[in-house]
Amino acid sequence: MNIPESLADIQEKIIKKEISLVQICQEYINRIKSSTSNAYIEVFEEEALSKAEKIQKKIIGNNFGLLAGIFVGLKDNICYKDHNLTASSKMLEGFKSLFSATAVEKILNEDAIILGRLNCDEFAMGSSNENSIYGPVKNPKDEKKVPGGSSGGSAAAVAEGLCNIALGSDTGGSIRQPASFCGVIGMKPSYGRISRNGLIAYGSSFDQIGVFSKTIQDANILIHVMSGSDEFDSTVSSQEPSNKEIQLPNKKFNFGIPDEYLKFEGLDIEIKNKLLSVIENLKEDGHKVEVLKFPFLKYLVPTYYVLTTAEASSNLARYDGAHFGFRSNNSEDINSTYENSRSEGFGIEVKRRIMLGNFVLSSGYYDAYFTKAQKVRRLIKTKTEEMLKNNDVLILPTAPSTAFNIGEIKDPIKMYLQDIFTVHANITGAPAISLPIGTHSNNLPFGIQLMANSFQENTLFEVSNLLIEKYLE
Ligand code: GLN
Repeated sequence: MNIPESLADIQEKIIKKEISLVQICQEYINRIKSSTSNAYIEVFEEEALSKAEKIQKKIIGNNFGLLAGIFVGLKDNICYKDHNLTASSKMLEGFKSLFSATAVEKILNEDAIILGRLNCDEFAMGSSNENSIYGPVKNPKDEKKVPGGSSGGSAAAVAEGLCNIALGSDTGGSIRQPASFCGVIGMKPSYGRISRNGLIAYGSSFDQIGVFSKTIQDANILIHVMSGSDEFDSTVSSQEPSNKEIQLPNKKFNFGIPDEYLKFEGLDIEIKNKLLSVIENLKEDGHKVEVLKFPFLKYLVPTYYVLTTAEASSNLARYDGAHFGFRSNNSEDINSTYENSRSEGFGIEVKRRIMLGNFVLSSGYYDAYFTKAQKVRRLIKTKTEEMLKNNDVLILPTAPSTAFNIGEIKDPIKMYLQDIFTVHANITGAPAISLPIGTHSNNLPFGIQLMANSFQENTLFEVSNLLIEKYLE
């Protein structure tokens, strides 16, 4: 059975009685059961089917929420009341959410149906979805390849047609890089656009919930619904949510492209050429493209890893077997309980980051690493704002390459460098999106990234819409 790809098409077909929501739900469940990608770690089968019946009636009765008809997969680090939540870690095995994330409440209020829980890197730390107690996710375009990470299950599920929409989190690229690897849209809103209440914390001054979709209209409406102030997260802006519908302004846009991005040695030549050809086309169509100087490219990854590991070491301190999380049986006293529970409960990458974070925060090194990285963060933010003063968006690659083989990258530093083009938006708090407009000669997809000034989601979606309409292959 064919499931329409966009929310608008689903609603139209249901109203015309060409398809029922229960049929769609059953089809998704069947597909998930026969899938081999390991994207889903749990399906809420009965619950989703019974909700589908109720929401079907609401649609027919012409009294339905903005997201009625949509099936959503949730990354396993976003709380959904009374459902399991593990951050793909042994540390949280058996844990059930006591409340729903604000973003989840908001989509449920608009009649979205949550289909299940999606695999990810443990505590959202990784770029390949290989750091998960549930095992790696396979890229639906080629099962030997990784789907990217950390929201690998979310990207794979949308790419494979196992849900319309997946929610993910993006601390340093975890939505955009897997979107690029799997050939779907991946959007990270501005820091402070969507409440982080109910998102398991990794790097609190970087984390944002965002969305994977097949159509730009669906990404837009999800961000609109999830936006807005929240008494449980004081970092959320009280600004008006972004628009419900993408405007179609009949105007020419100004694009900026930092030269250093284009000249980055590790950038795949075909990705670079595609970016250059899109730029040429934009110019031919009368848009302005300005080549800019951004001397901080090589500082992005170090700044990101100093600051996020520092924040992670503090955020993950609560999982000690006494206050929260897995408790080791082999302990005699409180100290050995802490030590054994954390040693046995966390995987190797999470432990590496906790140790790194504690190191950069330790006395004697604090100023040399943590304080310095904070200062560099400020410089990067100021420079980026300057680049966006006369430009609507920056146009960038999303990732240096297409998806790599499962097991291929063993060196952690090499893995961290995967994030070179995505961490920029998290360091500055800017909204950014990856659009699936490239296919490599190796048959794998890749994305092109757009980044706007903070809270300019509307512009970002307008430009995205333009690019998708013109250049989607
Ligand atoms: N790959 C990055 C990291 O490992 C990004 C993770 C994320 O955005 N959650 O930290």
